[in-house]
Amino acid sequence: MERADVVILGGGIGGCSLGAKLASTGLQILILERETDFTDRVRGEWIAPWGVVELQRLDLYDRVMAAGGHHITRHIPYDELVSPKEAEATAMPLNLVKGVAGPLAIEHVVLQNSALDKAIESGCSVKRGVANIEIKPGSNPRVSYEHDGGSLQCDCRLIVGADGRTSTVRRQSGLEIVEDPVDHLIAGLLVDNADDWPEDLEAVGKYGNMYYFIFPQGNGKIRLYADFDLEDRGRFTGESGAKEMLSAFNMACVPNSGAISKATPIGPCRTFPSQDAWVDDPFVDGVVLIGDAAGYNDPILGQGLSVTLRDTRIVSDLLIEHTAWHRDLFIPYGVERKERLRRLRLCAQFVTTMNARFGSEAEARRVRAKRRIRRDPTLQLIQLAAFVGPEQVQAKYFEPGFQEALFK
Ligand SMILES: Cc1cc2nc3c(=O)[nH]c(=O)nc-3n(C[C@H](O)[C@H](O)[C@H](O)COP(=O)(O)OP(=O)(O)OC[C@H]3O[C@@H](n4cnc5c(N)ncnc54)[C@H](O)[C@@H]3O)c2cc1C
Repeated sequence: MERADVVILGGGIGGCSLGAKLASTGLQILILERETDFTDRVRGEWIAPWGVVELQRLDLYDRVMAAGGHHITRHIPYDELVSPKEAEATAMPLNLVKGVAGPLAIEHVVLQNSALDKAIESGCSVKRGVANIEIKPGSNPRVSYEHDGGSLQCDCRLIVGADGRTSTVRRQSGLEIVEDPVDHLIAGLLVDNADDWPEDLEAVGKYGNMYYFIFPQGNGKIRLYADFDLEDRGRFTGESGAKEMLSAFNMACVPNSGAISKATPIGPCRTFPSQDAWVDDPFVDGVVLIGDAAGYNDPILGQGLSVTLRDTRIVSDLLIEHTAWHRDLFIPYGVERKERLRRLRLCAQFVTTMNARFGSEAEARRVRAKRRIRRDPTLQLIQLAAFVGPEQVQAKYFEPGFQEALFK
């Protein structure tokens, strides 16, 4: 029988960053990860400025930069409703948070490996390729699992579920996840050899039946995302998916987009549902959930990594500051997280209604909303939540009725 203070299920960015922080205080940490190698799952590679602050506070920033992290410093909303010149005149500088040059772009696999290395160096015991995990919550938590052909058990003071969207820990703890209906779809693809696209520039906007994102990763690599209608579900799937995606990125409203449509795909082209999901109180006796396991924001905003890093920071602070790790210790975490995710959900709804609804009625609504925003630019301030953090934006933008008035 093994023994640890904390067993963390899932060795992604959440599990490893939490493990590293806790192990650095002398706690015995066991991380159990299903995969033996990380591969491109088409996941988060754009960390919002407020998430970069969390990365700094977790002492991971320098390591991530040394591994290839790259700051994006300009945002231009090239869009079918305006000329490139008009879009350029509304370019947004991205140094919106003190001490942060802009969003940080890094390949997800590189990010995962950086956090994993840090966890190991901090003293965590990490086992990869584990299977058939079973947890026993309660006052004497226990984790049973298979590894290297053997059946093992570990007693601990706390189990952390950092095992992503389909969390086994969540299910086995009896915690319920509430999912919004799927609103639309989002496809992602990593490309290389897009050297002619400026490395410091992200572009986001609407073109035809697609809301697009261009996030340069440095050294000619770019992560592309496309939001599109549910009815077009097969649009970027199958053998020709990547090719279709590249040709969709040849957009008349985006100067130099030819640099992208000629780039080389270097990962899978995958499609995901665009929706929010949450667990009201992501803890029971002996178990706490962090990151996607505790619920996630619609990927249209690119907030999941920042959300996860903040979860890590809050939960690690609680565990380090207190010796009694009873259920109620996590109540402040649950309260803060609920409001954080509520605000991000409303922000995602704003961005979706503005950009990722398709058809003539949606177009007319978009044009009306843009006209109102031109008269009163503060009406779009809710979007700042995705850059500076949801708690930094005035509460009035998250009140019922705000979006109804804008999009009527
Ligand atoms: C299409 C898409 C685009 C996105 N883009 C962005 C973006 O640009 N920016 C951003 O901030 N966020 C983005 N996200 C969200 C972001 O990827 C996640 O929020 C983030 O990866 C969550 O980290 P995590 O550690 O909680 O979970 P994960 O990254 O999912 O890690 C979970 C880990 O647990 C392991 N695991 C799972 N089950 C088990 C098990 N039973 N036993 C042991 N191990 C297990 C997995 O192998 C994995 O390593 C995107 C998500 C999607 C779907």
